Amino acid sequence: MTMNETTIDELKAAPSDLEVPGTMRAWTLGDPNELKLETRKTPTPGRSEVLVRIDAVAICATDLDVISKGPPALINGGLPFNQDFTPGHEYMGTVVAAGPGVDEYTIGDRVAVEIHAGCGQCRRCRSGMYTSCTNYGRNYGEQDKGHRANGFTTQGGFAQYAVNHVNTLVPVPDQMSDAEAALAVTAGTSMYGFTEMGGLLAGESVVVIGPGPIGLLAVAVAKALGASPVALVGTRANRLAIGGKLGADVLIDGKSEDAVARVRALTGGIGADYVMDCAGTEQTINEAIHMCSRGGKICLAAFPHGLASIDLAHAVMNNIYLYGIRGEGKSAVRRAMALMAAGRFDATLIHTHTFNLADLPEALRYARERVDDAIKVVLRPQH
Ligand SMILES: [Zn+2]
Ligand SMILES: [Zn+2]
Repeated sequence: MTMNETTIDELKAAPSDLEVPGTMRAWTLGDPNELKLETRKTPTPGRSEVLVRIDAVAICATDLDVISKGPPALINGGLPFNQDFTPGHEYMGTVVAAGPGVDEYTIGDRVAVEIHAGCGQCRRCRSGMYTSCTNYGRNYGEQDKGHRANGFTTQGGFAQYAVNHVNTLVPVPDQMSDAEAALAVTAGTSMYGFTEMGGLLAGESVVVIGPGPIGLLAVAVAKALGASPVALVGTRANRLAIGGKLGADVLIDGKSEDAVARVRALTGGIGADYVMDCAGTEQTINEAIHMCSRGGKICLAAFPHGLASIDLAHAVMNNIYLYGIRGEGKSAVRRAMALMAAGRFDATLIHTHTFNLADLPEALRYARERVDDAIKVVLRPQH
């Protein structure tokens, strides 16, 4: 484990060997919270697939849910436990083998990897909404629709290699570090939220609630797309400070200030054009509704774990639109990567810790308990 700056140099020194070994190391989920590092056969890519040597994989809060509870992972129609399943979904790496029909990528190409390939044949996939595939998890037995979501319905990234559909791959610029490229998936989720709310943000006001990884990069993406002003609501000073570095014009301490009143004052009394709630509590969803302007839009990028009592009447009477999002659809990772490649924001500001493959349990503990104020913890599977 090292801090940010050292880490990037170390990641650039990742092994350049492109030869594919017959076996690889992979973490396998047994019972809940039981992970075993095993040696398995290296998978072979099929039609329209490549084998990616995983050079960096970031840990996400959803990984913690999958490992302890199961959903949203769905393996063979059921819970992911004791099914030789490898979690991990926010990864990047190097193409080391290509299956039949692949001419889009060549051996040695560095790629970031979107999570969802979808089935490609349901109504949602056909309209480009492959993260809302209606055949989610149906990729086994007689009902095999070919749905793929790395680390949820197919093998994931806490391993040295993984097979990926070409549709999920996004080229990584030469100068970008492995760790930064792995964060393109997170930035893609933030980008997808804005896409679903309407997409064009220049000159419009945006409030992000919750400075976790998606919230912090939502600030960065909104700023890069020209939103003005961009406000961030949080409760921890150090997280708000990072939001400031990523482009937030206004930082609001949700503990000591009335966030709704601050946003109303900031927007001439009318409220924000867009609110992205990345905290997902009953309180923050209600704040989002009350700080949103009449006719404004709210993206629900996180959710309460139980039922929530929210002021729907206020939303309805004010023509406020609510958007739920799943994952990073409509090629959002590719679009987020374009902003990152152009240097429009520094995603590595949220990368705090790095571990080797064998240290996954400790890396997960850092992410879960926010040890040393961990935000994004990155694993290096080739080390
Ligand atoms: Zn994730
Ligand atoms: Zn589908």
